[in-house]
Formats: sequence, C-alpha cells, structure tokens
Amino acid sequence: DGVLYTEVRRPCRVMILVNPHSGRGQALQLFTGHVQGMLTEAAVPYTLVITEHQNHARELVKKADLSQCDALVIMSGDGLLFEVINGLMEREDWQEAIQTPLGILPGGSGNALAASVHHYSQSPPAWNEELLLSCGFMLCKGLVGPMDLVSVHLASRQRLFSFLSLAWGFVADVDIESEKYRHVGAIRFLMGTLVRLATLRVYQGRLAYLPVKEAPKPPTGNHPPSTPQHPSLCSSLPCRLIPNTSPNQNSRHNHNGTNSNRNTITNSSNNAITTKRPEPHSDGKSALVDSLLPGLDQPVPESWTLVKEEDFVLVLAIYQSHLAEDLWTVPGAMADDGLIHLFYVTAGISRPALLRLFLAMEKGAHLACGCPHLVYKKVKALRLEPMSPQGMIAVDGEMVEYGPIQAQIHPGLARLICG
Ligand code: ADP
Ligand code: MG
Repeated sequence: DGVLYTEVRRPCRVMILVNPHSGRGQALQLFTGHVQGMLTEAAVPYTLVITEHQNHARELVKKADLSQCDALVIMSGDGLLFEVINGLMEREDWQEAIQTPLGILPGGSGNALAASVHHYSQSPPAWNEELLLSCGFMLCKGLVGPMDLVSVHLASRQRLFSFLSLAWGFVADVDIESEKYRHVGAIRFLMGTLVRLATLRVYQGRLAYLPVKEAPKPPTGNHPPSTPQHPSLCSSLPCRLIPNTSPNQNSRHNHNGTNSNRNTITNSSNNAITTKRPEPHSDGKSALVDSLLPGLDQPVPESWTLVKEEDFVLVLAIYQSHLAEDLWTVPGAMADDGLIHLFYVTAGISRPALLRLFLAMEKGAHLACGCPHLVYKKVKALRLEPMSPQGMIAVDGEMVEYGPIQAQIHPGLARLICG
C-alpha cells in the first residue's frame, strides 16, 4: 500500500516521506543509496512512506498520530514540505502539531530549504549528493531550531502557510514553467530563466508592505544554528513556542467601508478604529490570528508603505537564504529571523542586467550589482494586487490562485532540524 517499514524497531519515531516523482524521479534511490545506511548506523528509527499522489502527504499528516512521531522528514523538493506544513496547520491540534520537528532531505529539483539549512550550518556550499549527505548528517544529529512561517491569504479567503517564498512575475513564471524540465534537476531554473528572458515582460500591479523598523534590535531567537534553542530531536518534552498572535496587538486598521471592494492598496486615512478580524476557524479551537493584516477588501493601515511603481518585472518575498540550490538570494537570512525579505525589480531593466542579477545571486552578490531597478526591503507583512489580467503566483514554488494576495510573518511558529 505504499507504506514500507524498515528493519529498525517499531513504532518508528521518524516519519520520512518520499516523493518518488520529484526531481529526476530518483528520490527513493537517492534515499536508499545515501541516507538509509547513515540512519541505520546512527540508530535512528524511521518509517518510510512513499507518496502515491499529490496531497497524499498533506492528508496523511492531517490524520497521523503525531504522538508516535518525533519528526517529519521530507525527501523531495520544497513542494512536499509545503504539503506537510499545510496538513499540520489544518489539524484541530495545529498548535501542537506544528511543533513537530521538520526535516528536509533534498530529493527534488527545487531544494531551496535544503540549501538554506546547509548554509545556516556554516558549511561551504554543496550541491547534489553532497548536499544530501549534509542534510542526512543533520538528521542523524537531530538538532532542532525554530523556523518562521508566513501565512498567506488568497482572494477566495483561503489561507495557506509558507516556509520559503511568495513570487509573482519573472520568478513565478520560471518556477512554474520550468517544472516541465524537472528531469534535468536543479539546472531547470537556469534553463527556465534563459527561456523567460527571451520573452521578458512587464507585470502590472500594486504592492504594499509593512516595513520593519530600522532600530538596531537583534532578531528574535537569532542564534548560530550550532547552538539551537531546542537541542535534541529525541530529547524530552517538545518546547512550546507560542507565536506572537495576540489579536489585540498591532491589529489597528481602518474600518472605512466606503471603498471596501476597490483600491485596496491605499493607506487608510483613519487609523483609530480597532477591529478584530473574524477567526478563520470556527470549531472552538484557538485560531492563529494574522494580527498585522486587515481584510483583503480593506485598505492597508497607515503604517504600511505603498510602492509608487506599478510596473514590475518581478516581486519576490523570501524567508530563507536560498531560492534554489545555486541561488543565494538573502545573504543575511536565518530560518528564524522573523523577517520577510522583499525584493522587487521594476520595469525598464534590460535583459543583460536581469541575467547579471541572477548570475550574481549564485554568490549572493546581486545586491552589490548597483542595479537601480532592484529594491530590497525587510518587512513583516505585504500585499500584492496584480492588475495584469492573467499571470502566475507561486508560494513555495507551488502555483496558487492568481489574484490579490497578502501575507504576514509568524516568527518561530515551526521547528526545523538544522545545524
Ligand atoms: P520538485 O522539486 O521536483 O518540484 P516537489 O517536492 O516540489 O519536487 O514535488 C513536486 C510536486 O509533486 C508537488 O506539487 C508535490 O505536491 C507533488 N507530489 C508529491 N507526491 C507526489 C506523487 N507521489 N505523485 C505526484 N506528485 C506528487
Ligand atoms: Mg517543486
């Protein structure tokens, strides 16, 4: 039935989910060839689950008895972890469920989190099998640290949870269009970039964000991954990381209903009324409140910045260091820095200049290119309202509903095997 049990003792304490179709379709072979022996040697008991279809992992973790599970590990690309995180957040006991340590073993073509985790461990860059070995080794060590999640609201009122990125324009198009080259592995992004450069276009939309105050305050929980806050995967009680989700905090926003359906990316002129948003879950269980976000049909608060430009080549919000194995997008990012790193490139950039940015990103040097079209801001929340009639928006590399979208950070909501 697709569920295999290994020779190690039961009940198995680590659940490893493998997507056999991710990347070049070799995730299972990579697992047996490179990781299995390592886990056996380190006496890490595990259950291997091979996913049979899209959303299989999502449904499975939604119903799983997590008391039998010390960690959930994904051997795939970022897409399978996106499923798992959303499955956990859909549970009634999401507050506990999302505390389950999450691990990543790069088996896909888009292995951004694996590359990021490896980077946070302060190891020199690694790719392919070397990256897999590094992540396998981290899994054996079992050190766990906090990871920020971002909640994402779509026009249909659906809410998703994201650990990596929200992209629109060039990056989203490359991400989605290059899926057909998945069999070539991570180089699909370079191929997709070259193809998209040939058909470079401008995307119209409105962008607004809540900037992080510039006061030099150390980021919450920003510690070297080698000394994680929650030392060991298998040790003692899970540590409760209560997110800063007080509905009374930062929830002031305008309630001026006169222009509620249009022009949502304008600052509200009256900031005096505090409204509490309806909680997304009505099952009596405590819901995670997005205290920084007004309704998508409401104007953004005055504290937000409205971007003057409306013609973009790309908008990218990212909350890990790497967008792909060889795209070091945010040099200073940490898994738990409490920040959304917002990049946008405005229209007018030439093809060679855009290509230069992506080539420089391999070494994290794109911000030093002096490109006047590239803007970088640290933010807590953002709203994007595309005006181009068609397009693609990607969350963690997965295509989502196209239309107005907004998001906010939840510092340290999840836990990640790292270091
Ligand atoms: P890649 O990096 O190669 O894109 P992902 O982990 O992102 O790998 O997976 C790609 C897509 O496959 C995701 O949308 C994921 O939800 C989906 N998926 C997961 N398991 C399966 C399966 N058994 N068959 C088909 N698709 C799957
Ligand atoms: Mg993917």
